[in-house]
Amino acid sequence: MIILKTYRKRNFFKVQNISFIGLGAMGTPMALNLLKKKYNLFLYDINTKNYKKFYKSKAKICNNYTDLSSKSDVFISMLPDGKALTNLVLGKNGIINFIKKDSTFIDCSSVDYETTLKISDAFTKNSIKFIDAPVSGGVSGAEQATLTIMVGGKKNTYNDAKEILSVLGKNIIYVGKSGSGQIVKACNNMMLGINMIGVSEAFTLASKYGISQKTFFEISSKSSGSSWAMLNHLPIKGIIKTAAANNRFKPGYAAKLILKDLSIAKQMAKKISLNIFMGKKAFDLYNSFCRKDKNNLDYSAIIKSLFKK
Ligand code: NAD
Repeated sequence: MIILKTYRKRNFFKVQNISFIGLGAMGTPMALNLLKKKYNLFLYDINTKNYKKFYKSKAKICNNYTDLSSKSDVFISMLPDGKALTNLVLGKNGIINFIKKDSTFIDCSSVDYETTLKISDAFTKNSIKFIDAPVSGGVSGAEQATLTIMVGGKKNTYNDAKEILSVLGKNIIYVGKSGSGQIVKACNNMMLGINMIGVSEAFTLASKYGISQKTFFEISSKSSGSSWAMLNHLPIKGIIKTAAANNRFKPGYAAKLILKDLSIAKQMAKKISLNIFMGKKAFDLYNSFCRKDKNNLDYSAIIKSLFKK
């Protein structure tokens, strides 16, 4: 009996009900993958238009935190940034006041690690387990459940959450203490932003010198200049299936989100007086791009800003 009780308490195998918060470009396919695996989902998003893809499913759409929290003891959030996470958890009548003790909150959003530490502390004080579990792999990775997920927090909570995270991704990697998943994510996305600018510059340069972009892709994708950004988010139309360029740069991964990630990396570097020359340059370029009302285009649309007027 005692053994069974411990098993039930520590293992997520029995979890059926999950509350999922934030049904945007990433959250929707992630939630749909959980539904496919027969979890009962309770959904919440401040933008009710995002419920559309769930109307025909068994998922329960919730209008308030009481409905969202009464039947679940696992929560997953997929929000734009640290501000949204703070509002959700610690805002006026925040969700922290509705979640039962011993529940687990998994934040898959990309947020600054200082916000993560604040949220983690607040949950710990309320006896709620918390891990930061930001993801990488883009919308296609979310759809195909091939995301890489980097986890910070208590190892026991990670072990318990692994079964659910394995429904969302392929590589689920424990990093270390709370916030460390977010540190890895910010560093990774700094490389992604720098790579995307490099890909954009190289494709534009080759094309202006008369090289077909298809031929350039054929060669460089098999050469030393290749990168994940090029192979998955090529800023050129009609060469790869997963390019936002095929769809007038509809995100995908919005420029305002990479700007947020570059800003997090910049702040992290500033705090330890580290020069990140390329990271800072990438931040400046995306910053001026977003200021020109391009925030809601895919981040690969940065290629548009390279042409001399
Ligand atoms: P998104 O803007 O499409 O979705 C965010 C959703 O959160 C929106 O539907 C919004 O209405 C909702 N939301 C905001 N505040 C809320 C609140 N208080 N309560 C409930 N819902 C709220 O963003 P996305 O592209 O899905 O990205 C989500 C997170 O994942 C971001 O942190 C992003 O940086 C990260 N990420 C994105 C990608 C990508 O390719 N899009 C890849 C990896 C990681």
